[in-house]
Amino acid sequence: MSSNGNRIELPASVVVRDLAQKIEKSPIDLIKKLMTNGVMATINQAVDYDTAAIVVAEYGFEAVPEAVEEEAQEEAGEVPMWRQLIAGEDKAQLKARPPVVTILGHVDHGKTSLLDAIRSTDVAAGEAGGITQHIGAYQVEMKGRLITFLDTPGHAAFTQMRARGAQGADIVILVVAADDGVMPQTREAIAHAKAARVPIVVALNKVDKANANPDRVKQQLAELELVPDDWGGNTMVVPVSAKQKQGIDDLLEGVLLVADSAEIKANPGGKVIGTVIEAELDKSKGVLATLLVQNGTLESGDIVVAGIAHGKLRAISDYKGRPIKKAGPSTPVAVMGLSDVPSAGDLFEVVESEKEARSIVGERQETLKTQAQSRKKVSLEDLFSKVQAGEAKELNLIVKADVQGSLDPIITELNKLGAGDIGLKILHAETGNIGNNDVMLASASKAILIGFNVQADVDARRMAEKEGVDIRLYEIIYRMTEDIEKALKGMLEPDYVEKILGKATVLQVFTASKFGRVAGCRVTDGELKRGAKVRLYRSADIVYEGDLSSLRHEKDDVKEIRQGYECGVGFKNFSDIQPGDTLVCYVLE
Ligand code: GDP
Repeated sequence: MSSNGNRIELPASVVVRDLAQKIEKSPIDLIKKLMTNGVMATINQAVDYDTAAIVVAEYGFEAVPEAVEEEAQEEAGEVPMWRQLIAGEDKAQLKARPPVVTILGHVDHGKTSLLDAIRSTDVAAGEAGGITQHIGAYQVEMKGRLITFLDTPGHAAFTQMRARGAQGADIVILVVAADDGVMPQTREAIAHAKAARVPIVVALNKVDKANANPDRVKQQLAELELVPDDWGGNTMVVPVSAKQKQGIDDLLEGVLLVADSAEIKANPGGKVIGTVIEAELDKSKGVLATLLVQNGTLESGDIVVAGIAHGKLRAISDYKGRPIKKAGPSTPVAVMGLSDVPSAGDLFEVVESEKEARSIVGERQETLKTQAQSRKKVSLEDLFSKVQAGEAKELNLIVKADVQGSLDPIITELNKLGAGDIGLKILHAETGNIGNNDVMLASASKAILIGFNVQADVDARRMAEKEGVDIRLYEIIYRMTEDIEKALKGMLEPDYVEKILGKATVLQVFTASKFGRVAGCRVTDGELKRGAKVRLYRSADIVYEGDLSSLRHEKDDVKEIRQGYECGVGFKNFSDIQPGDTLVCYVLE
């Protein structure tokens, strides 16, 4: 138990004597206060958190739940990813490092403006107006302490990193415009941050505007379990105006406070590890990469492996483009000397020799090959075996539905299912079609995407295929709950194996009164069968998947048609066919 100002950390239950000692009041006085609140307790009795919080509030203290022991958290899998990076380090050598912050929020709420405003507060730079190199990250100084900002705003960057198993940011600043309030991307950002277990500081932006309504926004945030601290919650909500550069210092101080409570640490003398922030190929300089050092100290001349790129660092410079020799934890640096362009989100490490680097890269290339062949997918089908093997403790879901009216009952039904041995967690629920962002979030958090009366966009399907994300579309709620219930109980039917019967190319599209739009095709491979399944591709994208409902050769209905023949094909409930599309016909066995 510890206290900080008039904030006081309280456990789930506390003995009256201890509580009195903690707030430096007499136990008798405390017992009286409890009585006036309708609680009869003796000095040796324990009261629960809620009761204790109410009573200490009467003494002017603000109760916050006591941080759960780190180890207990780790057991529960509640660990921010950077902690895993330093898991092997000697605890005694760990030192506080600057927090790394990223800014998320709805479009036009002021992410870019805020990044600019923060950047311009950097008085330590003493180079206002000077040219600073843009490397995707920068640092500012606040009260003699550094804060590192990742300055590619946007959920995609954040999630892509997570999907690759990395995590740049320790803290998320969530920008919410005071005149607009919580919007879909705000909710999405909250889901991302929560899934990554990264604390959130809210920047309540545009408070300069006449129609700003901070209280309304706070209300909305509270409904999303981000209860503002001035309302008795744990979320710092700082009013700012990025445009007028107001409140920026308060925001940065808030970030530092959160950083302190999150105990963001690293071992400067330990193994050098970090994350690739961005990288590109420069015609004259070769590969330029921005690396964020997360543990250890990177030095020029070090041999680095980043993803499947490697090399001896020829030059290191800071975010201002000044050459430096060394970079400790949380420092973003621009480096030259890598053999290939690594991907944003790749982890990097320093190794002993070029030989070791080459052998690691070789191994990784091999694994990549085998992974491409047998993609590691979190599907509903293999959930149960994962649970039994101890690889999964809970089922993460992302739910998209057509209207709020169907979303609410779905969530209620799903929550009922989650009461069993395997926890069920809804990371994000929103109305609208399934898009790329949903797939990225699913991939990063190993979640299954559930769509109710919605479609998956073509791009999203392609990405799901690539990332190995299971998208399940339903039209009836009980079908969905039934599937999930079966999966939780290990009773879901095993995966069907797809057997391809044949392929065809769409030559032209015509309208037949009886069938609607029909594709005039030539069978290029195998055969097509009526009643079988079909998938229609436009280039590499799947535009339709379903039943082949009608099949005609010249004027006759046929059951099947072979390679070399032309035919008319109709699809069930689908008419957006285009010449040049290709069709794959298959059955499930
Ligand atoms: P982003 O899409 O989240 O990066 O938002 P931008 O930073 O591009 O800002 C969107 C618009 O809001 C721009 O026209 C900004 O000038 C304006 N804006 C940003 N911050 C403020 C603010 O604090 N006050 C006012 N009045 N306008 C702001």
